[in-house]
Amino acid sequence: MILASEIIDVKSFPELTQQDISSASQVVTPFAIRTPIFNSTALSRVLNSQVILKAENLQTTGSFKVRGAINKLMNLGPRERERGVITVSSGNHGRAVAHIAGELGIRAVVCLSEAVPRGKVEAIEDLGAEVVRRGKTYDESVEEAYRIQSEGGLTMVHPFDDPLIIAGQGTIGLELLEDFPQVDTVIIPLSGGGLLSGIALALKTANPNIRVIGVSMDRGPAMVRSLEAGQVVEVVEEPTLADALAGGIGPNNQFTFRIVQELLDEAVLVSEDQIAQAMVYMLEHHHLVLEGGGAVGIAALLSKKVRRVGDQIAVILSGGNVDLPVLEGVINGHT
Ligand SMILES: *Cc1c(COP(=O)(O)O)cnc(C)c1O
Repeated sequence: MILASEIIDVKSFPELTQQDISSASQVVTPFAIRTPIFNSTALSRVLNSQVILKAENLQTTGSFKVRGAINKLMNLGPRERERGVITVSSGNHGRAVAHIAGELGIRAVVCLSEAVPRGKVEAIEDLGAEVVRRGKTYDESVEEAYRIQSEGGLTMVHPFDDPLIIAGQGTIGLELLEDFPQVDTVIIPLSGGGLLSGIALALKTANPNIRVIGVSMDRGPAMVRSLEAGQVVEVVEEPTLADALAGGIGPNNQFTFRIVQELLDEAVLVSEDQIAQAMVYMLEHHHLVLEGGGAVGIAALLSKKVRRVGDQIAVILSGGNVDLPVLEGVINGHT
């Protein structure tokens, strides 16, 4: 699907500006790794373009989510800090919030559905957060989180639909601009759209010609189906290797749907086989462990599903938290 890519007026998001992302950068820097970028000679050869990879799978807590979590928690008032926070997550955001809350001495409650992989649940428990497992799907656990929040006076730390979270994830865009200023195309895993919104805002403010491509799995891609429908729609959540990308974008989505609608140039969907192949490819060629959700950008390139690839491509490797038995299955070809 190719979406309209017109001249973008980034000022049309008063709730979120480049300035907010620069401010987030100050807050994020002491807590997050400035993840490396490196040239992929293998992919560059396959695509006949320069392909560089930004390794957020090596980020603290194993995914980029720590960036948004820091920015949100550091901006809480003293009363909010004292009462604590609650969040709901497909796993990585919960882990990031648990980590930062631990660092700052803030109480954290994390709601997780039964679909969240074991390794992610255990990591969150180990970080000292209170885990509430409720609901079969992400969307069901969201309802539970809001119910608990309404009783307890906790502050909701939304996994994507919050300007502070989006600005935190957007710091990846600022780092890319500094480390790879010639970038003309960026490929970003897409679920709730916090990651894509932040990076797209940072990049397009600097250069509106940079193309932003979002990639989701073909099993239950809530944002892409909503973009096609022109309004938020619900999708059925299905088991997928890209568990980090599962779940809806929220019936009351305030920010990310509109921002993604405006800034996304192309959306790509990838299959389970393509995700598995991308994970194996990254192990073989770069000795990097990616979770399924972190590998969808590579899957989109390898499967030649991106219509306009560009000459200077950056791919965001968004996370590496995969359970070993799952990785073993992927390597052995049963997914
Ligand atoms: C959360 C997550 C995404 C998607 O981020 P959104 O802001 O929800 O679009 C992509 N990859 C990984 C590994 C994630 O944890």
